[in-house]
Amino acid sequence: MNEIKLLNALGALTVDLASEEQVKDVSGAPLGYAGPVGIKVRIVADHEVMAMVNGISGANKVDAHLINVNPGRDFKADLIEDIRMVQAGEPCPKCGAQLQEARGIEVGQIFKLGTKYSKALGATFLDENGKEKPIVMGCYGVGVSRTMAAAIEQNHDQDGIIWPASIAPYQVIVIPVSAKDAKQMTIAEELYNELSKLGIEVVLDDRPERPGVKFKDADLIGFPLRVVVGGKATDEGVVEIRQRRSGQTDLIPISDVIKYVREILPIL
Ligand SMILES: [Zn+2]
Repeated sequence: MNEIKLLNALGALTVDLASEEQVKDVSGAPLGYAGPVGIKVRIVADHEVMAMVNGISGANKVDAHLINVNPGRDFKADLIEDIRMVQAGEPCPKCGAQLQEARGIEVGQIFKLGTKYSKALGATFLDENGKEKPIVMGCYGVGVSRTMAAAIEQNHDQDGIIWPASIAPYQVIVIPVSAKDAKQMTIAEELYNELSKLGIEVVLDDRPERPGVKFKDADLIGFPLRVVVGGKATDEGVVEIRQRRSGQTDLIPISDVIKYVREILPIL
């Protein structure tokens, strides 16, 4: 059974599984023998159930089942709705093609609340005839943390995260190879400031760490672009830019860095 379909069919916000006591109360038998014939509850049945011929069901008696149960003749349903879970291989209701099943990641939800809360709380509006009506409510949410987790699950390698540029917390990291080298630091800071001014989210790794450590950390955190300011920056005026996803590395004149970054990052 599909719980969401049942909720919608009943106009309910939640449903719970009946307790052992409740099942005993309405069926007169212990758990495991409940069936639709003679049970003292409102019966909600799927269309599929109503099409069954000579079915087998619990008999509402210990150690007993009924055979040749026929809906309509042996029991009546109070509500007949589409409430069952669809299965792989069943035909699509629109085109008839076989449905396939795949795992998905839930990153958001929509709940149709209807007028349940607005009626209870008196949240109303006046319609075009000046008549007071309860507001029809829904709530919608996108889970930010689970969206990030799902994105990382699909965008990573053995070295760490590979952020898609559009959702990367920072798009660029600037790494001076030696934080002690004043010239390298000046170039790195200038690049950092220029990129920041353009609204590009950028981090300057000015920690007094070995370059290897900084490169490892940059890969792990997953910045889409890594700009390395080393000896070539001070001697030849070029920096090394590496793309996290492809590993492509280019030597770029310092004056062309902004242009290069803008070309690589599609959102800028
Ligand atoms: Zn279809």
